[in-house]
This record gives sequence, structure tokens and C-alpha cells, in this order.
Amino acid sequence: MESGMEEIPVKVAVRIRPLLSKEVLHNHQVCVRLVPNTQQIIIGKDRVFTFDFVFSKNSTQEEVYTVCIKPLLVSLTEGYNATVFAYGQTGSGKTYTIGGGHIASVAEDEKGIIPRAIQELFQHISENRNTDFHVKVSYIEVYKEELRDLLELETSVKEIHIREDEKGNTVIVGAKEFQVECADEVISLLESGNAARHTGVTQMNEHSSRSHAIFTISICQKQPAEPQKITDAAQDSSWKSVQVIASKFHFVDLAGSERVTKTGNTGERFKESIQINSGLLALGNVISALGDPKRKSVHIPYRDAKITRILKDSLGGNAKTVMITCISPSSSDFDESLNSLKYANRAKNIRNKPVVNYNPDQDRIDEMELEIRLLREALQNQQVSNQCSHDLNQERTRISSLEEQLTRLQVQCFSYRNCVDEALPFLVDLHDDVSLKRSQRDRLQSWITMVQEVRKEALSVQETDTRTGTSQEPHHITILQLKRELKKCQQALVMDEEVFSQKDHELQMLQNQIKTLLQENEEQLESLKEAQETHRLQNEKMVEQQIFIDKLKEKLEKFTDVETLDFSSACADGPAVVASARRPYSVPLTKSLLHSFHPPPETETRKVYTSPPTFSLSRVMAEFRARSQMILSNIEDQDKVLHCHLSDHSDEEEENAGSKKKTSFKHSINRTWTRKQASMCFLPDLSDMKCQVDKSRSSNKSGLQTDTTTGEEIDSLQKSHVFNMQKLKNSELRLTEAKQKMRELALNIKMKEELIKELDAQSVSRQYSLKIAKLEQEFEQAKMELAETQKRLQELESKELRDVPEKTKLQKEFRKKMDAAKLKVQ
Ligand code: ADP
Ligand code: MG
Repeated sequence: MESGMEEIPVKVAVRIRPLLSKEVLHNHQVCVRLVPNTQQIIIGKDRVFTFDFVFSKNSTQEEVYTVCIKPLLVSLTEGYNATVFAYGQTGSGKTYTIGGGHIASVAEDEKGIIPRAIQELFQHISENRNTDFHVKVSYIEVYKEELRDLLELETSVKEIHIREDEKGNTVIVGAKEFQVECADEVISLLESGNAARHTGVTQMNEHSSRSHAIFTISICQKQPAEPQKITDAAQDSSWKSVQVIASKFHFVDLAGSERVTKTGNTGERFKESIQINSGLLALGNVISALGDPKRKSVHIPYRDAKITRILKDSLGGNAKTVMITCISPSSSDFDESLNSLKYANRAKNIRNKPVVNYNPDQDRIDEMELEIRLLREALQNQQVSNQCSHDLNQERTRISSLEEQLTRLQVQCFSYRNCVDEALPFLVDLHDDVSLKRSQRDRLQSWITMVQEVRKEALSVQETDTRTGTSQEPHHITILQLKRELKKCQQALVMDEEVFSQKDHELQMLQNQIKTLLQENEEQLESLKEAQETHRLQNEKMVEQQIFIDKLKEKLEKFTDVETLDFSSACADGPAVVASARRPYSVPLTKSLLHSFHPPPETETRKVYTSPPTFSLSRVMAEFRARSQMILSNIEDQDKVLHCHLSDHSDEEEENAGSKKKTSFKHSINRTWTRKQASMCFLPDLSDMKCQVDKSRSSNKSGLQTDTTTGEEIDSLQKSHVFNMQKLKNSELRLTEAKQKMRELALNIKMKEELIKELDAQSVSRQYSLKIAKLEQEFEQAKMELAETQKRLQELESKELRDVPEKTKLQKEFRKKMDAAKLKVQ
């Protein structure tokens, strides 16, 4: 352990790969060579670099492993952390050297560092059966400054974090660690990780040259402690008799070090290159900072990139590290190779302080236990001094004064007893020998019996004293009682303290929960706002649609007017007006229907437009249906009328004046037709028309009354016959015209029906708007609920300390409510 504290520099190796066959084919020149029997490299004409290890194009994988990595593996098994990282431009041989390619397709002696290290580790494990080994592996990748788990691709990049434990070791949290039992298991994991590194992008090197890959082997070994350790441990708890050591080996295949400008990348690739180069740049800065002895104490910019954070304990930390710089010998790569050599040269100056990692968890437990003990003692002392010190001091002074008194009295008692003891035999002798007065003798005798009694008593007291100990003193009893109570109090206090700390912890957790809840709340409010925004947009759309509907309605209204004109013109062809008016309606004759029959002036029609949309729509529909019904009946009636014309033409014939009037009437109809089209005014024309019809009728009637039979009349009859024939022809013409019109009308009806369907669709959208309104209401309610829960939350916060269980309950409730609110908002 002592030797571990010494600083050792990062070992730097350079490996020159052979020219690739395509480079040979393109006749590339070699610009890097080794100086024989030294660890030096010459690049170009005369630039010389010295490294810890140099490998030429003829160096084998085995050689590289044995020289650079084997010592690291030994260190790993001794409990040191180890790292090897490969640096160099794309195509310089990093992956080949580290062994991150397709292992299965590589020949045994072409295998790189990782498979060899794995094999050797398991070899070591099998040779040390008395040590209990646990081996775990993980494989991650840093791509565009995000961590990917190559062994568990489903793991989200957000779940993986870089952390530092209390000893400064880098820990990658969230990456899957596979517990492995044999070398083959590790190899297959490595293989799958390598494959994951290459999928994603079609060109294998595209992706891998832009990402850093970190394969980590973690070992944990339990072995019997060394003899002198056992004696130490014997005094301590029993678990210390087993030594636990945890150590890690990182194998890092860095991204290609080539410059952005050289590859000429643009856009996304460019950004990516910048990110990678920023990682390598940060690594370079870290290497520079660590390598410069004057800057030792200055800030090392580990935090600038993910890769430097991961490699923190490998660079200037407590790991043994080897950097292998791979370079291409081709003169076309001169610049990059020179840069790589410069980079590697700086890394030589980095010094690490490797230490054996005795089980970090147990160290931590030790620390914590000590801390707990100290805290407990401090707590007890504080309690004693705080609560009991006053009473105790009083008691103590009283006790000491009493004790003093007691000893004084005891001394006195002792001397008296001595006096008595001496006097007694003398006085007994005196009582026997000397002749005394009777009274004197009696007094002496009584004194002697008294002393004997006192002695007897003293003896019995002494006996009980020895039996019951010293507890007879009342003060002693109170002290003991007090001490006992004190102990109890202290224990209770310790327990209270524990409960308090627990509660504190719970409180902290609850506060955190509150925080997260508040955050969620905020998020929800935001989403609420968004929803409001979308709602507003929908409303706008609704308004637009409404406008559109209005327009359509207007159009429909116009259509209706035109239709009515059609109808009226059809009516005007004969007495059909009356006939159709008398015809029973298949649709009830409502007010609106009447309206359509005799449309009010335009100002009134406008009012109808602005009435509630559903009402007007249905009304329009009804009107429309009624009208089409009437038109159809009208057409039928017209047919009848025409028939009439044919059968009793004698009624109409003769009168030229009548026919003239008829023609003039026709003209007037035509006029009104055009006029109506222009003015859309209906009623006056209709009355006008009716008036004319009446006139023609009356004239017809007068014609009938003046009828007489003469030769001239026959003549005139013949004429009238011809005339009638002409009229018939005209009628036939009109019939065809009417048929034509009917067809047109049918077409019109169809169009309008379609329009109505469309309007129906509009009504659906209106329903939708109603629903939205309802949703809005619900939304408002949810908002109110949210506000209320927020208020309650604040109340809760103010309560905090008082009722922890109630609080959790309330929080659960609150959560539920929030969920419900969320659902509603959705
Ligand atoms: P990088 O990972 O640095 O982009 P690769 O490890 O993929 O480079 O190496 C590029 C090519 O060069 C590969 O085809 C590899 O087999 C070959 N190569 C690299 N180093 C050597 C070496 N020392 N001996 C033989 N071939 C090598
Ligand atoms: Mg590579």
C-alpha cells in the first residue's frame, strides 16, 4: 500500500502500422521510422521523439500486449485500477490494437489487447483458487457527447451518467454490468458490443471513427488477509479477517484524431466532427494541464467533455495508465502522424498516483461507524451537561460534605470506643478488687452493663452493614437511583435523536417530492397553455367555417330565389297558379313555406339569415323540399293545363284581341323574368301577373258570350281553326320547353341536394364546436382543480413537520387528483 502512493507517469507507447495494401498499390512513401535499439521515432527528415515503448510495423500483437498490457493486468489483480487508451487518426490501427474489431474473424495471433487480457485474467483466476473472484464487464460508447450502452442498446442515453465516488474513482452509473464466469462469456459480450458499435451506420468505420468506446472489466476479489493483518483484525469485528479488493481495467478506443478540415465534412458530419474533436481537444487540454509541472495545482479541465470525465481517474488519478498512439507510416498522413506524436509526447509528463482499492464499501462503513460513535458520545455528553449537570453538582457537593462529616464522626467514634475499650477492663478489675462503697459499686456495675449492651449493638450493626453493603446510606441510594434514571434518559434521548434524524430524512424526501410535484405542476400548466392555444386556433377555424357556412347559405338563398322565380314563371304559363295553390301539400304548409311562396322583401329575408344557424338550416331544407315538391306538382299540373288547352281551345280561340293580349302577357312575363332576375323583387310582379291573367280570362269570357253562327263566322272558324292549330303547335313547343325546364330543374334539385348534404356536414362541424365549448368548460374546471391542489400543496408545505403520515396520504390524493386533471386536460 505504501508503494502505491508514489507517483508514476503515464506510460506512452507508439505503434506504427505497416502500409496497407492499397497504400502500397498507390505507391505511398513511408515517412516514419524507428531508431534501432532505442525507444525513439524519427518522423520526416529529422524530428525525433522518445517514448516509453515504440512498436514498428513488424511488431506483433503479442509483443504489444506483453510489453504494455501484461504489467497492467498484474496490477489489476493486485488491486490497482488500470487503463489503456488508443489514440490516433482513423485508419491508424487503434481498433486493431485494442481488439475491438470482429474477434471471431481474426486469427489467433492477430487478436488485440482486450481478448488477450481477458484470457490472461481468467488464467490468473483459475490459478488462484483460494481467492474468490467476481468479474463484471460493461461496454459503453461516447457518441456526440452522449453515452450509449453497447451491451444493452435499449438503455436510453439519459439513464447513463458519469459519477465520482468519494475516493475520486470514476463510476459510470446506469450502464449494464454483466457478471461473467469465464473468458468465452466476456468474448461474446465484447463481440456483441463491437457489432453494436458498427450497426447504425452502413460504413463500418464511419461511426466507429467518430465515437469513443470504453470496455471495462471490474474485478472484486476476496482473499484471506495477511498474517499481521489478522492480528489487527482480531481486535476488530470479524468481517475484517477477509480482505476485499475491487479494481477496474478500462480499454479505451478513442475516436479518430484527424482534423475536420482534412476530411472536408459539412453539415451534420461537421458538427459531429467538432463534437469528437472537442472531446479529443479536452483530452489534449487535460493531458497538457497534467503534464505541465508548473500547472500541477491549477484546475484540470476534466469536466469539459464526457471522455475526459470518464478517463479522470486514469489521467492524473489513481490508475496505472498506458496510452498507445497509433500512427500511419504513409507520407500522405504526415501532418496527422506528427500531431499524434506531439500529443503523445505531452502525455509522457502525466503522473498518476495509483493505490490499491481495498474494499471501498467497508472503508466507508468504518468511517461511518466511527462517525456515529463520536456523534453518539458527543450527544450523550451534551445531554448530561445540559440536563443533569446542575442537580448532579449540587448533589455531589452535598455528598462530599456529608462524607466529610461522616468520616469526622467516625474518627471521633473510633477514639471514644478506644477510650471505652481501655477503661472497661480496668474498671472491671476495679469492681472486683477494690473495696468500694455500695453506691459506687452499683454505679460501676450499671456502667459496665451499659457498655456491654452498646458493644453488642455495635456488633449487630456491623454485621448488617457487611450484609447489605454500603447502600444503607440514604444519599447513596438517591445517587444510584439518579444514575439509573440518567442512563434511561440518555438512552431515550439517543432513540429520540435517531427518530429525529429519520424524520428529518423523511422530511427531506417529502420536500423533494413536493419539489418534483411542483415541477410537474408547472409542466402541466404549460401543457394547459398549449391546449388553450390549440383551442384558440380551433375556435378561429370554427369562426372561419361559420363564415363559410354563412356564405353558402347566402348562396343557397339566392338559389332559392332563382328557383322561386323558376316556379313562378312556370306558374305564369297558365291558370296553373290557382291549380297548384289548391293542390294538397305533401309537406305541411308552415309559415316558412308560405314565406317561400310569397317571399317578403329583401330586408326581411336578411333577418332570416341571421337567425340561429340550425334553425335556418332546417328551415332552408324544409323550404327546399317543399319547393321541389311544388315544382314537381306544378310541372304535372302544367301538363294537365296543356291538355286543357288542347281540349277546350274553343274557349280561348277567336278573339284576336285576346290572343294579342296573350302575347303581350307573354312579353310581360318575359319582362318580369328579366326584371326579377335583376331586382330579386317578387311580390309586385306576381300580383301584376295575376292581374293580367284575370284580364285575359274576362276577355275570353266576353268572347264566348258574343258568339253567333254565320258564313263569315264559319270562315272565321276555319281561320280560328288554323289559328288553333298554330296554337297547338305553340303549345307543343311550350311542352318541349317545359320538359326542358323540368330537366333543368331536376338538375338544379340534385345540385341543391348536394349543397344540403354539404350544409349537413357543416352542422356536424357545429356540433363539434359545441363539443369544444364543453371541453373548454371541463378544461376550466380542471384548471380550477389544479389551482386548488396547488393551494393545498402550499398548505402542506407549511404544515410539513407536523403530520408526516397525513402528508403522504394527502400527497397520494394529490397525485391522484393530478392524474385525473391530466386525463381531463388530455
Ligand atoms: P482505426 O481503428 O484507428 O480507425 P483500424 O484498427 O480499423 O484503424 O485499422 C485500419 C486498417 O489497418 C485495418 O484494416 C487493420 O486491419 C489495419 N491495421 C492496423 N494496424 C495494423 C497492424 N499493426 N498490422 C496490420 N494491419 C493493421
Ligand atoms: Mg477504429
